[in-house]
Amino acid sequence: MNMQASTGNLKQLDQSHYLHPFTDFKDYASRGGRVFSRAEHIYIYDSNGHKMLDGMSGLWCCNLGYSQPAIVEAVTEQMHKLPYYNSFFQCANEPAIELAKALVDVTEERFKHVFFTNSGSEANDTNLRLVTRYYQLQGRPEKKHIISRRNAYHGSTIAAASLGGMKGMHDQTNGLDYVHHIDQPHCYEVGPDEEPNAFGLRVARQLEQKIDELGQDKVAAFIAEPVQGAGGVIIPPDTYWPEIQRICDERDILLIADEVICGFGRTGKWFGSETYGIRPDLMTFAKAVTNGFQPLGGVMVSDKVADMLLSKDGEFAHGLTYSGHPAAAAAGLATLKILREENIISNAAETLAPHFQGRLQQLVDHKLVGQVRGRGMFAAVELVRDKASREKLAPESAGAVFCRNTANELGLMVRQTGDAMIMAPPLVSSTAELDSLVDMLVQALDTTAAHYGI
Ligand code: PMP
Repeated sequence: MNMQASTGNLKQLDQSHYLHPFTDFKDYASRGGRVFSRAEHIYIYDSNGHKMLDGMSGLWCCNLGYSQPAIVEAVTEQMHKLPYYNSFFQCANEPAIELAKALVDVTEERFKHVFFTNSGSEANDTNLRLVTRYYQLQGRPEKKHIISRRNAYHGSTIAAASLGGMKGMHDQTNGLDYVHHIDQPHCYEVGPDEEPNAFGLRVARQLEQKIDELGQDKVAAFIAEPVQGAGGVIIPPDTYWPEIQRICDERDILLIADEVICGFGRTGKWFGSETYGIRPDLMTFAKAVTNGFQPLGGVMVSDKVADMLLSKDGEFAHGLTYSGHPAAAAAGLATLKILREENIISNAAETLAPHFQGRLQQLVDHKLVGQVRGRGMFAAVELVRDKASREKLAPESAGAVFCRNTANELGLMVRQTGDAMIMAPPLVSSTAELDSLVDMLVQALDTTAAHYGI
C-alpha cells in the first residue's frame, strides 16, 4: 500500500464515519480535512508529509512541544505498573497523590486541595458542583446564580456551554437558567471609542450591577479567564481585574478563574491569576498540565472553600471514573517537573515573549492590521479593511478565514477567531522559530491584502 493510497483511504474513512468536534458535518463529509500523522518539537506533519510550524501548541495545550520523551516514559512506566485504578471508595494511587501535592506546590499558598477530572469542561462542571455544595453546607442554597461573560469559552458540556458566552453554543443548548452574562473586557470590539482604563472599569462594574439586579444573597460566583483565549486572546485593560476582585470581595461572591489556557506559563507566570494579581477561590486547569499528552483537568480549591467542605459530614456526590487516572497523573507529574527544572516559564517570559510580542507589534503598520494584542506567549492580530473606520475585511469573517487558510498552506498552523488571527506557540520555541512564525504570518497577510485588492 503506497502512502498516497493509504492517505486517500483514511480520508475517505474519516469523512464517512468520524463526526468531528465544532465542525459542519455536512461540509466535512463532502470536503474532508487534514490528517496528522506525526509531530516533532514544534512541528506537525500531515499524512501527505506537509510540515507545519504549530503556532497554536495543539489546542493551546502542548506548551512543551511534541518531543518530550520524559513524559512518554513516565506514562509508559505507569501503564506497566498500574494502568488504571479508581479514586472512589477510599482508594487512591501514587501518581494522583503526588500530582495533587505538586499542583499545590506550584499554586498560591491558599490552594491546598485539588479535584481531578479528564477535561476543562468537566472541571467547570465540578466548579458548579463545589459552589453549590459550599453554599448548601452554609444553609444558603438560594445563593446559586453564576455570572459569566459574553463570548467566554468554558467548555462544551451543558453546564460549561451555559457558563460560556458563545451565542452559537447557547442556540444549540438547553442551558442552565441560573447563569447570567455581562460584557467581556474587549475594548476594541465592545468600547472602541472609550479610553481603555475607563472602559475596563465600566465593564467590571457591570458585575456589581448584575449582582444588584439578581440580589447579592442569590449570587454564588463569578467565572472568567484571566485572558479570554478562544474568544480571541482578549487582554483586559489594567483597571479591569482589580475592580472585579474588589467587587467579589465586597459582595461575598466566589471568584472562579478558568486557567485552562492561561495556566502553566502562557501569560508569563505559572497562572494568569498571578499575572493579573487576582485571588480566585477556585481555579480550573486542564490542557498544558499534561502538555496535552494525556487527558486531565481539575479544580484547585482554596482554603476558603475547602475548609467548609472538609468541616462537614456527608459525601460530595460527584466524581468521574477517570478522576485521578494514574497514567494521566504520571504525565502531569512529568510535565510539571520539566516546567520547573528547565525554567521554561521564566525563560519564556523573559526571553521569548518580549521577542514574539515585539515582532508582532511591528505588524500594526501593515495595511490589513487594525490591532495587535498579546500577553506572554499568546496574541491576536485583528484584520480590517480600513484602519480608521475599522470596517471589516469581508462579511462573516471570510477575510480572516482566507488568511488562516493561506498561512496553513505556507506551513503555519494558526487559528482564526472572528476577524482575528490567533497564535499561541509552544514555550519551547526558539526566537528564530518565532521569527519564522511571524514571517509566514506576514506573507499570509500580504497574500490576503492582494486577494482583497487592498
Ligand atoms: N475553559 C477554557 C478557558 C478553555 O479554553 C477550554 C478549552 N478550549 C475549556 C475550558 C474546556 O476544556 P476541554 O476542551 O478540555 O473540556
